[in-house]
Amino acid sequence: MTHFGREVLPYGVFSVGAGPRRVGVAVDDGVLDLAEALGPSWEVPSLNPFLAQGRARWTAVREQVRGLLDQPLVPASEVSLHLPFEVADYVDFYASEQHATNLGRMFRPDGDPLLPNWKHLPVGYHGRAGTVVVSGTDVRRPAGLRGAGPAYGPSEKLDVEVEVGFVVGVGSELGSPVSTAAFEEHVFGIVLLNDWSARDIQAYEYVPLGPFLGKSFATSISPWVVPLEALDRVPVPVQDPPVADYLQVSGDWGLDLRLELSLNGCVLSRPPFAGMYWTGPQLLAHLTANGASLRTGDLFASGTVSGDAVDERGSLIELTWNGRDPFAGRTFLEDGDEATITARTASGLPLGTVTGRIRPV
Ligand code: MN
Repeated sequence: MTHFGREVLPYGVFSVGAGPRRVGVAVDDGVLDLAEALGPSWEVPSLNPFLAQGRARWTAVREQVRGLLDQPLVPASEVSLHLPFEVADYVDFYASEQHATNLGRMFRPDGDPLLPNWKHLPVGYHGRAGTVVVSGTDVRRPAGLRGAGPAYGPSEKLDVEVEVGFVVGVGSELGSPVSTAAFEEHVFGIVLLNDWSARDIQAYEYVPLGPFLGKSFATSISPWVVPLEALDRVPVPVQDPPVADYLQVSGDWGLDLRLELSLNGCVLSRPPFAGMYWTGPQLLAHLTANGASLRTGDLFASGTVSGDAVDERGSLIELTWNGRDPFAGRTFLEDGDEATITARTASGLPLGTVTGRIRPV
């Protein structure tokens, strides 16, 4: 388990031995048992009841927890970690200009790498909430059609996507768009997220309705949900052309998260989140701009995070483009490979880990 120190104070769901699941806060390298410290209402198998209580309660509990840091902790070695919240709906965006540009160049070498809508709205798709799994869960290699004809079989182009996921606490009613200014009322915090992607299945199926089976087999998230308060904010990138009114954002809503992707223990890249073109408040405003409702436990992810440098790319398809060999001749994942994403704040505070190992089909 990550050694979190005493400032981040992320929330998760854990159990000890055959005991019941309960909510805890990661402190140093142990877990503060909130069911012990604050009462039996915390002996629940998900964060959803807490998430639904809203910003004032989130702030009050964080203050309470700060006063409990010298209580006895459950040692990490005794703890089993579980999916921290019941995922309601899951959406994945495409918010990194560098990532969208890299993929555009690969798939449409003759045209403009960015499609005409890209700078006018945050492109996204609805994913599969039921296959979001907690870090440490093995991922079975998916099978599918990899081209026309009898080409059903195991994916030969299994990839990772380094992402950040936003966790919705307070929902909204059908027909009531959420403004960028209301982001903090609705969003509790973040998880690290690996959007496992079968590029061969994806490439064949995505026209014209977008990602489907090449993505829906598994999405891994970190077990600890980091509250927004723990994150370093930086100015948002300049957006040119100007965006629609409902997408305009005020305040510093860039998040300075330093991500790291490793494969079998070898660091492949360090994608920087601070330069993402579209920010969290804009993703949320867009997600609800048509009046779609939000629910407690909704998860919306940033899309692959890639920076300007080749060793800041957040997927293997980008890292191995043009014959680059960042790891032992790998182009895509092999059975037995273990991919891990970690992150830190600008000041070096750890934000957790999401890891998963590939099992044969
Ligand atoms: Mn993705």
